[in-house]
Amino acid sequence: MDLSEEEVSLYYLGFSNRTLWPLLHSFPMRVVIRHDSYRAYRRINQRFAQALLPFLRSDDLVWVQDFHLFHLGHELRRLGWQGKLGFFLHVPFPSADVFSILPWAGEVLEALLQYDLVGVHEQRYMRNLIDSLDVELGGESNGDDYCYRGKTARLGVFPIGIDPDAFRPSEYRNTHTLSDELSLANVPDRKLILGVDRLDYTKGIPHRLRIFERLLERHPNLGGKILYVQISSPSRTRVPEYVQEKDQVERLVGQINGRFSEAGWVPIRYLYRSYAQIELAGFYHDADVCLVTPLRDGMNLVAKEFVAAQSDDSPGVLVLSRFAGAASAMKDAVIVNPYDIEGTAEATYRALRMPVGERRRRNRSLQSVVKRDSSQNWSDTFCATLQSI
Ligand code: UDP
Repeated sequence: MDLSEEEVSLYYLGFSNRTLWPLLHSFPMRVVIRHDSYRAYRRINQRFAQALLPFLRSDDLVWVQDFHLFHLGHELRRLGWQGKLGFFLHVPFPSADVFSILPWAGEVLEALLQYDLVGVHEQRYMRNLIDSLDVELGGESNGDDYCYRGKTARLGVFPIGIDPDAFRPSEYRNTHTLSDELSLANVPDRKLILGVDRLDYTKGIPHRLRIFERLLERHPNLGGKILYVQISSPSRTRVPEYVQEKDQVERLVGQINGRFSEAGWVPIRYLYRSYAQIELAGFYHDADVCLVTPLRDGMNLVAKEFVAAQSDDSPGVLVLSRFAGAASAMKDAVIVNPYDIEGTAEATYRALRMPVGERRRRNRSLQSVVKRDSSQNWSDTFCATLQSI
């Protein structure tokens, strides 16, 4: 199914990326409300349903992924489809106060109840969703079920994960390492901090740069010995908020490097490009600390990939924002609040100096969580639940 330039602009760049994305990530000041983009979103969900219907058999399970397609199930039902319908939300669900900013909040939630099963990453998102359903529709909760106007949807928590084996050290033994790339090998006692994100304002990259700046201010002994590598993969480059974010990040990198660099040492390496996951796996393995400090994130897979790539002899330390969905299960990470620049800088310093015994204990515990909550387990559990309804 082809979309015109204008449809892409209204449906994808507009309603999906400038309305729903900031709304669902609790950035109310960034939410753009436009009736034409919502109309396009509804229309295109309808066209997706029309395009899909001819391929469906009555015993198929239909599993719809993410906020771009909230109404797809509702449109399929309107076309007469009676088979099983599931929906998974890959981003957070915000508090009811924030969600009510959307003029079509009730309509979106009513559409969501057309699915037999609605999944989110964690309990808190589920509580928020139920709260919004109560406020906007006033239906009834009954255990895991939500009932409204004779229709019942099951709500469930299904934390997404990764395939941990793909990041194991044996998988990338022959790829080049970050140390090779940065010619760090002959600095004794060197420490490497890593950040890997799409360039998105939800990831809090400017806050993280401020945290690193504070670390250098407070601990001048790190001078010449520490390197912070920030990989920022280009994202949504046609959305104005992302252009501004990129400018701000680049300005800050320049300021901090300008302030602290010495002959022979530049503290931040900023790489605005995408790497293959096999390369990232090697980078994760080389890092002493991975800073995963989003201001809000549905799950965050980088946190899980970093843990999977550590070896037991000298594992690196995960510093993880409490505002990432991953934090609810990864309790043995160093949990931080990235709005607290000073507190997070000190937590990072402690992570850099953490004794190997504690690093091993935390890493073993985190690896067992990453293994348990794998991507395979996520999809098996969701599909089995949908099947059983
Ligand atoms: N990623 C990648 N190359 C890069 C940067 C990131 O392949 O240069 C991948 C990374 O391995 C991870 C995903 O992008 O699987 C990012 O997922 P995450 O949940 O952390 O954030 P999202 O981008 O989905 O908000």
